[in-house]
Amino acid sequence: MKTMRDTITQLTLPTPYAVGDVHCYLIKGDRLSLVDAGVKTEDAWEALVQQLKDYGYSPDDVEQVILTHHHPDHMGLVERFPNLKLIAAHPKLRPWIERNEEFFSRYEKFFYDMYLEAGVPDKYFAILKSLKKPLKWTSKGGLDHVLVEGDPIPGHEEWKTIETPGHAQSHISFYRSADVSLIGGDHLLEHISSNPLLEPPFEKGEKRPRPMLQYRASMEKLLKREIGTVYPGHGKIFEGAHELICSRLKKQEERAEKVLNMFGDKSLSAYEVCKQLFPKHIETQFGLTMSETLGQLDYLEQQRKLTFKYEGERKLYYVNR
Ligand SMILES: [Zn+2]
Repeated sequence: MKTMRDTITQLTLPTPYAVGDVHCYLIKGDRLSLVDAGVKTEDAWEALVQQLKDYGYSPDDVEQVILTHHHPDHMGLVERFPNLKLIAAHPKLRPWIERNEEFFSRYEKFFYDMYLEAGVPDKYFAILKSLKKPLKWTSKGGLDHVLVEGDPIPGHEEWKTIETPGHAQSHISFYRSADVSLIGGDHLLEHISSNPLLEPPFEKGEKRPRPMLQYRASMEKLLKREIGTVYPGHGKIFEGAHELICSRLKKQEERAEKVLNMFGDKSLSAYEVCKQLFPKHIETQFGLTMSETLGQLDYLEQQRKLTFKYEGERKLYYVNR
């Protein structure tokens, strides 16, 4: 094993979300950087300041923030570091941190059209009005440095970027070959499977991304590398990534099989599938359950097990015989 220059330290911050605490990682190399930056609450900030202090630092010392993806619990406190020289992330994070209004209105329109296509009843359309609510937990800023496949983190050359879209279009992970460790963001968590989430196409006029297929491809990509310690965004630091990836992929395939078995001779909208797949959670976690359902349908479509037709605006899936 080669020697490593950078140290890595896990910091743990509270969030107001069901997922519980979120981690950031302080890496010390040529520069002092924070990978991810919690959620924008006073509780999270106080916890961060205290933990930095425990390691002999203050927020003034943090020179860079590197972001694994755009979700509010990962980039909330970016704007609070007074001496920040650089914010680095995947280019697809840019509209989120720069609050691009054109992107956000496209985002709303995308979900509106998708709900129509999925046969979602009127009552759920009210959710579209609150799509921007989570922005209050997150920071505004400029993206100074973009990281794509293979790029090193500035000032920490031993950490290289791996694009891992699926959970978020902007999602990247960082790999250090010297000790085969991975800073995995929310791509791979030990205690819960991270959901692939629906997002509009990044550029106007593109086809929508298929997050479940991307998530699987990102997982399979990690299987090609040796992986030791994983430093995740939530839950324990863990080993045994390959085994975990295989079980995640298998679970997804089993759920897809369950979805396929719902059909028989019927044709069903995505909403009808979602209702059967998540009878208990569809009401309270509509966005998440619809993302998961469409993910399974995308997968079955790609496997050519399902096909579809349109009835008015509604897309109806049926078994491909
Ligand atoms: Zn996330």
